[in-house]
Amino acid sequence: MKYISTRGQAPELTFEEAMLTGLARDGGLYVPAEIPLMSADDIAALSGLPYEEVAYRVMRPFLGDSFTDQEFRDIIARAYAGFGHVARAPLKQLEPNHFLLELFHGPTLAFKDFAMQLIGQLFEVALKRRGDSVTIVGATSGDTGSAAMEAFAGLEAVNVFIMYPHGRVSEVQRRQMTTPTAANVHALAVDGDFDDCQARLKDMFNDFDFRDGVKLAGVNSINFARVLAQVVYYFTAAASLGAPYRKVSFTVPTGNFGDIFAGFIAKQMGLPIDQLVVATNQNDILHRCLSGKGYYTGETIPSISPSMDIQVSSNFERALFYAYGQDGKAVAQLMDELKEGGFDVSQGAMQLLADTFVSGRASEEETLATIKAEYAASGELLCPHGAVGVKVAQEHRKADVPMITLATAHPAKFPAAVEKASDVHPPLPTRMSDLYERSERLTRIANDLGVLEDHIRKTIAQ
Ligand SMILES: *Cc1c(COP(=O)(O)O)cnc(C)c1O
Repeated sequence: MKYISTRGQAPELTFEEAMLTGLARDGGLYVPAEIPLMSADDIAALSGLPYEEVAYRVMRPFLGDSFTDQEFRDIIARAYAGFGHVARAPLKQLEPNHFLLELFHGPTLAFKDFAMQLIGQLFEVALKRRGDSVTIVGATSGDTGSAAMEAFAGLEAVNVFIMYPHGRVSEVQRRQMTTPTAANVHALAVDGDFDDCQARLKDMFNDFDFRDGVKLAGVNSINFARVLAQVVYYFTAAASLGAPYRKVSFTVPTGNFGDIFAGFIAKQMGLPIDQLVVATNQNDILHRCLSGKGYYTGETIPSISPSMDIQVSSNFERALFYAYGQDGKAVAQLMDELKEGGFDVSQGAMQLLADTFVSGRASEEETLATIKAEYAASGELLCPHGAVGVKVAQEHRKADVPMITLATAHPAKFPAAVEKASDVHPPLPTRMSDLYERSERLTRIANDLGVLEDHIRKTIAQ
């Protein structure tokens, strides 16, 4: 199994190489050269299996020779052992034919744990075998950072630096990043917004001196191994609702397009998905684009669903790559235009995108109103991201196709917004109820490539 870049200029890599590399050297993102297929019988056989077994069957064909069967089974077992729910990704009914896929039972209470816990174990096995070490730098709008720190804390071959936008993450999110005690994980509070953090991360990857000097590795949602881990719960959810014999639709609260792109991969693999609904908050560049208005960036406006406060949605490049018939040159050209402010999507590509994706947007008021209404209707307390999803899902629901909305975080991660909407204070699960008493450790730092690189070099030299 080979991996190719969306911009067509970087060398082909194995799964393990693509995972350790992150961003391709031509600035593109790695995708599998071919997407493995699952037959209707393969999918039917998933029904009723433990999450870990489905994970193994869905992901194994993507790995090629990078890991042995037994290594990979053990990796999966370790990755999900720390989850607080035996089903890992339980499905709950909200109303007739509308279901909530709870993805917040991992160690940091957001769906990012599914990918990050797996990637932590994959890195450890791969690096130990190579006798190598890496520096992981990540940019986070809130949830990726803590998930990465939890996943890599205490591993010997890895240093982790997480950049987050100072003052723009929730208190729970910040504390989850600033309270881990392991010496190899570091929180960097950058004076900028999430797009700045993401841009500096890209700059570091494009600074080959720095990149090679510190052995830079990325675990942001550009890493294909993360996308792959997220493909699994599309299969478990669809199989429990009757796939392959019945189609299902998914609504995904979307920021960087990583989670919903995993749904696209699931569909390409053969899972009968009717619609993939992209749900955005007021930062609605994806909704505008999928509505035919082109992909033009604006200002990021902070919202009550901060993990979706994004203008440049990195994984969308992967969707464009397929929509443009895997034409790396065309994608590279679009990404150049993006630097100048944006681009229009060609008619043919728009048509292909529309075959799979539809979209909607929820305003701040609609998000709060949905939290309140859903609590009254079903007793389910949604986090603001899940609420954006539920609101948009309700607009796209069809009578004869089950709709599954992804609940991407636990309500206790965003207590202020949830309490404002519902008058209910969502309690933290017992295993992290002392979060507010733990002491914090962070470095406030300028939104400046040189300053950031110096800091990282000095810290790992210590
Ligand atoms: C990261 C995140 C999202 C957005 O997911 P993408 O893969 O970036 O589209 C939505 N909700 C929550 C809670 C998140 O942490």
